[in-house]
Amino acid sequence: MKNFNINERLRENIKNLRPYSSARDEFSGQGEYLFFDANENALGSVGTDLKYNRYPDPYQSEVKTLIAQQQKVKKEQIFLGNGSDEAIDLLFRAFCEPKRDKALIMPPTYGMYSVSAGINDVEIVKVPLTKDYQPDVEKVIQTVQNDDAIKLIFLCSPNNPTGNLLNKEKIIAILKSCNGIVVVDEAYIDFQPEASMLQFLNDYPNLVILQTFSKAWGLANLRLGKAFASQEIIQIFNNIKPPYNVNGYTQQVAIQALNNLPQKDDYIAEILKERNRLELQLRTLDLVETIYPSAANFFLVKTKPEATDIYELLLANQVVLRNRSRVHLCENCLRITIGTAEENSLLMQKLFEVNRLLS
Ligand SMILES: *Cc1c(COP(=O)(O)O)cnc(C)c1O
Repeated sequence: MKNFNINERLRENIKNLRPYSSARDEFSGQGEYLFFDANENALGSVGTDLKYNRYPDPYQSEVKTLIAQQQKVKKEQIFLGNGSDEAIDLLFRAFCEPKRDKALIMPPTYGMYSVSAGINDVEIVKVPLTKDYQPDVEKVIQTVQNDDAIKLIFLCSPNNPTGNLLNKEKIIAILKSCNGIVVVDEAYIDFQPEASMLQFLNDYPNLVILQTFSKAWGLANLRLGKAFASQEIIQIFNNIKPPYNVNGYTQQVAIQALNNLPQKDDYIAEILKERNRLELQLRTLDLVETIYPSAANFFLVKTKPEATDIYELLLANQVVLRNRSRVHLCENCLRITIGTAEENSLLMQKLFEVNRLLS
């Protein structure tokens, strides 16, 4: 993509935007200062002895330093947001003119792309995945080349809800032939890190990669997502994000997490072990027709009697699965997240009961 010019891709009002300049933008020096610039309460924080009275670092510099070292990218190629869902929203705001521009998705896939598109009044163009849940590359390229209004292309690998990785060559073919921003959502990549597209970041100026602390890192509650892209795109994100979008507590815990990689690796190993165990047990059930190969911390399972009946019976037993049976290409499918060893055993116990009831 030699002639990719970020400025030509931007929404008109964003090109001309003068970003808000926060107190911490205008002064970010190190050392001992007396701060009278941000209208904070200098005395303390109501309800806690902990000090939450000062605004956090708007650019999360310490967190980014660690991520940059560990993932071998420049700090300036990292955006951190209030969940990766914030980055998804910012992509629409930066690149899509409401009512005019469009985004392409490949269903079945993560639901937030269309929700975010809807919020931003951007039309969604769908090019479904093939039967083996891979991008229909020719159709995608043809669709994008025939429609100038398509500014964003979303890929999800490993894909939610199907669990499989998308073929790298297919992703690269799309990156090469499409002039729009190609977003690769890698929310589950920690379960198979060698499949990440991050190594290609410097090769494709239209590539944006999303990752998150919500899945393998076990920090879903704190809301911390990452986006990796060219420095130019990250600069745009910084210009349009809410000034203090990641709170100080989250930044502090993220630093602790990034300094505890062995614990993350242990969790992943345990989840993968349980994934194997659960798969073997699920295979023994008559009600399970297909277990789709998973590169993530969940399975998509096609069932033989109605998936919704199984879903309802489990629900009556206080067990909640994700019913995906009304999703195109996921007919009669349930999505099962891997739990603790104990939870998985309980799930299997209930599934054996349901199996008996329904057969
Ligand atoms: C869970 C999930 C996310 C989540 O993002 P947050 O960082 O928690 O906002 C993003 N993309 C996909 C595909 C997911 O499944």
